[in-house]
Amino acid sequence: MADSYTNLGLIGWPLEHSLSPHIHQAALKELGMCGKYSLFAIEPNQLRQRAIQDLLKHVANGTLKGLNVTLPYKQTILPMLATLTPAAARIGAVNTIYMEEGLLKGDNTDAAGFRNDLMQLPVAEYTPTLVLGAGGAARAVVFSLLQAAHPVILAARKPEKAQSLADSFINIAQTTIKVLPLEPQALAQISDEIGLRVNATPLGMSPHIETCVWPEGLPLPAHAAIYDLVYNPLDTLLVQRARQAGLPTCSGLGMLVEQAALAFERWTGTTAPRTVMQQAAQRACEPQTTKLSQRIT
Ligand code: NAP
Repeated sequence: MADSYTNLGLIGWPLEHSLSPHIHQAALKELGMCGKYSLFAIEPNQLRQRAIQDLLKHVANGTLKGLNVTLPYKQTILPMLATLTPAAARIGAVNTIYMEEGLLKGDNTDAAGFRNDLMQLPVAEYTPTLVLGAGGAARAVVFSLLQAAHPVILAARKPEKAQSLADSFINIAQTTIKVLPLEPQALAQISDEIGLRVNATPLGMSPHIETCVWPEGLPLPAHAAIYDLVYNPLDTLLVQRARQAGLPTCSGLGMLVEQAALAFERWTGTTAPRTVMQQAAQRACEPQTTKLSQRIT
């Protein structure tokens, strides 16, 4: 493959439903760049390390300009990289890989992707923020909120995992991060003091679209706003419930497009065509009634 080709790809498992090829192919086409965004589905078996290392060699020799990384490899790939951006090191997870100054570098664009998307939305004004979940996405979200000096409360079904997440960011938090169990009684006690609720669990995601992170029967207060990281479907049960209550809502599609745009910029050194990328993501979503331009309702 010639150097002029911008060949990109995604490592993860499973990958059938990934929107990333649609988003990045649209960007390449819009900018008149030759290249392809490929899916490298690597089954989590004993051979995975070898398969990942082979792909990293392609990044090192330039046949691949860059890679995205998704579950379950965002953390396990860290020791295979020569250097990390400060955000990736702090979050402890990588979603973007490229060569810089002869070194294989890992970055985390989820955090900045969330922040950039949130900051252009009215829901950003709602404070403090309750982050629901304590996995990789929650780490990126909490990191970006703390960096913006935004107060955070964290709720997870394993409070000890949430506490460890909170402790790992202790020196960037202005105040202590309150941690609670993701249980109706605990949520009811703090519900009135919360502005923005961010779902960072897979609850509501296809095929389990009947699930909802916010307990049934616990009302959403009139001043609440919702940012659901799930984008498949755009209209999760949580988003539907909030919209029915007349509250502002936002799906995870904006964050997905923004983290992709930031990764594209790392790989190509070119400003990403965000509008085209958003349109491609929207088209690739399952048939939806909500248009991206109407994410805020
Ligand atoms: P993850 O690392 O597996 O973490 C998932 C978190 O959700 C964990 O805290 C997990 O708890 C919790 N959880 C899972 N099932 C639950 C349940 N039934 N009840 C309560 N909590 C539950 O996954 P992730 O990478 O953080 O992703 C989370 C969601 O964010 C996914 O839907 C993903 O698609 C979405 N996401 C969106 C974007 C975007 O750009 N919009 C980016 C990244 C992720 P345990 O630790 O107890 O298992």
